[in-house]
Amino acid sequence: MNRIILENATIIDREGNVSAPATVFVEDGLIAAVTGSPAGGQSSKNSGPRSPGQSERRPGDEIIDCSRLHLTPGLVNLHTHSPMNIFKGIAEDATPDRWFNEEIWPYESTMDGDDVEAGANLAIAEMQDNGVTAFADHYFMADRICKAVLESGMRADVAPTLFGMAGGFEGQLAAASDLVREWNGRDGRLSIRLGPHSPYTCSPGDLAACAKAAADLGVGAHIHVEDSEPQIAASVEKYGRTPMRVVAEAGLFDVPLIIGHGYWILDEERELLGDRAWIAVCMKTYMKLGEGPGRVWQRPGELPLCIGTDGAASSNTLSPLEQVRMLALVGKLQTHDAEAFDLKAVWKILMRGHDALPFGTGRIEAGAPADLVLWDLMKPNTYPLYDPLAALIYSADSGNVKHSMAAGRWLKKDGSLLLDIESIIAKAGERVAGILRKGKGTTHLAF
Ligand SMILES: [Zn+2]
Repeated sequence: MNRIILENATIIDREGNVSAPATVFVEDGLIAAVTGSPAGGQSSKNSGPRSPGQSERRPGDEIIDCSRLHLTPGLVNLHTHSPMNIFKGIAEDATPDRWFNEEIWPYESTMDGDDVEAGANLAIAEMQDNGVTAFADHYFMADRICKAVLESGMRADVAPTLFGMAGGFEGQLAAASDLVREWNGRDGRLSIRLGPHSPYTCSPGDLAACAKAAADLGVGAHIHVEDSEPQIAASVEKYGRTPMRVVAEAGLFDVPLIIGHGYWILDEERELLGDRAWIAVCMKTYMKLGEGPGRVWQRPGELPLCIGTDGAASSNTLSPLEQVRMLALVGKLQTHDAEAFDLKAVWKILMRGHDALPFGTGRIEAGAPADLVLWDLMKPNTYPLYDPLAALIYSADSGNVKHSMAAGRWLKKDGSLLLDIESIIAKAGERVAGILRKGKGTTHLAF
């Protein structure tokens, strides 16, 4: 792989600090050096080269002029269901009950592996367009997602979904464990964890079996908890405790845990989280499904908040930037405080997703994986740049993602994706025709 030199980029780090232009050397998937001057010049204080001569130009180097660009770590989408892109727009203006029980689960019951893969490819293309370099996915037929991820160049943490309610849980868990053994760690870009759907579709015993299996396999878990308020009362009635406590007692906080939503977390549940749990908030879904105000607004700094998009069947887009913007805006609205959810605080929430994944990404320094985005903010929608963070959080969109890379490989270059978009759309089109032909099936699930 040729070395890539990102020359004179203005770096915004994960804390939201903007530094003077620097040159970043990318080699073998990693950031080899960050110097304070152009390639060939003298290296300076920033974060020196790992070995002498690293910052000299060599024949074959690919040099990118970044003097008008801002460089940030790649974006992470910490909760999605990538195959659901095939259902984008199929169930609109529906209550959560109708959305799940009368639309999505009946449609999902007729899906096959080709539908899953076509939806995942659509999602991957959209995420790459939006500057996402890694995502945490949660779905069934997950081997087809793994295949799509490896072909796409980006990273993903994939959790095969397990439904206790559907029956045959032991078999599902065995298959998911096999998936972990087969795919975890592949190409350094794929990690697998277990995906019990939720405490309302899996029994406490099923959840405990998942926690034990995850610990035995040395992986984490990914689960939906408290995305809607009625789930809490229903759980107390059924089990005598809240969903978060059911999850805690099952032992799921003893393994690295991604919580999809956690939007209604109670004050007294915050202490359960420990230091290996992350909450992926997906504001657009809550707004679209009319889920109400949630409880993440007070003392948000004490919660391990991250950003997810949820699946496109509810959120319609897979842009972490759009989601963090909604979080900031609703945060200010809910707290009646324009100073709350300030730029740096929400940027850190956006960047925290890197900590929740096992790839070691999120830093722009020598030795770190090269998962990066170069933003062109010199555009009418983002200029002027009194504060580049404001431009990113409140103004930017996919059109500002000029280049991006994961593990040192280009995903987007000069504003264009490297994927074959025409073929991705054509394949999705074939699957959509089949989905409409098959219509809704019957489901064993209930929301
Ligand atoms: Zn979800």
